[in-house]
Amino acid sequence: MVRYLELLKLAALMQRGGGRDTAEALADINARLLAATTPLQREIFQTSTLDATLVAGPRAARIATREERSLGPFLPRRGVGLALSASDIETYRSCPLRYKFSRVLRIPAEQTRQQRFGITVHQVLERFHGEGGGTLAQMLELLDAGWRRAGLGYGEQEGRLHERARAALARYHARLQEQAAQPVWFERSFAFRLGPHHLRGRVDRVDRLAGPADGSQEQARYELIDYKTSRPRTAEELSQDVQLSLYALAASEAWKLESSQQAYYYVLDDRKVPVPRPAHDADSITHTVLQVGEGILAEAFEPTPSPAACSLCDYRIVCPASEA
Ligand code: SF4
Repeated sequence: MVRYLELLKLAALMQRGGGRDTAEALADINARLLAATTPLQREIFQTSTLDATLVAGPRAARIATREERSLGPFLPRRGVGLALSASDIETYRSCPLRYKFSRVLRIPAEQTRQQRFGITVHQVLERFHGEGGGTLAQMLELLDAGWRRAGLGYGEQEGRLHERARAALARYHARLQEQAAQPVWFERSFAFRLGPHHLRGRVDRVDRLAGPADGSQEQARYELIDYKTSRPRTAEELSQDVQLSLYALAASEAWKLESSQQAYYYVLDDRKVPVPRPAHDADSITHTVLQVGEGILAEAFEPTPSPAACSLCDYRIVCPASEA
């Protein structure tokens, strides 16, 4: 944890500068960091020699005054372009500075309990299907094993989450038996080029949709499904969504599946929200990817704070622009 705070401190110091005195900037950053730590973390943090090194060393002045401006060597390059995922693109669009902290400076983020919970549910589904499916009891065994691995317990709050996960997985299992569509791929990866950039990712599940009742021959249709453990969003709220549009483009470019539709499956609420694609969707997502790539290559990392973005940002405690 203390190393994490020191990394945050360095990132915050790099972001400030603009002629400010290093010691003065450090005092402000330390005050923000200390306000977010436990008494034990505070005690260890205050014994760190990092501040003395930063204030005394010539490198500190360069960091604080941002003389070392080019982050070129740290960008996730692939050939003349960048390696990009849907999450990279969404992070940059939500706030370029957040992208810089996360993907360029690679400041690791502490996972919240809710995040560990979501990852665990996701992994249960991945392992269940990876092992060829099975009974509900087998699925729930995977949950218990994953729960322990994630360091989650059975106290009041985590016990409630565990019950919620069990109920959600039971509904998921029942739905799987009932549905007419046939799941054909799980965690299927893709990689393709878009302009100079390399796009990569994995789709949680691909279902082959049931054919027409009259048995007529037509091109097979598929549904690309991404699992979510967050609050369900409506199709309208998802109209600017990047992830599924990118997956649809990937299905066509990387897998040659021309006829696909896509949906988010909110596992905890057992709700599937189809996200329709307008006719110009491929052009629109291509434009978005190229625009984001251009911004990253130009090292345009100015913050775009908003209460919505900052409240979910792992770097808000040190970010000078935070609106959280
Ligand atoms: S706290 Fe807000 S402005 Fe700062 S990096 Fe995060 S999202 Fe951007």
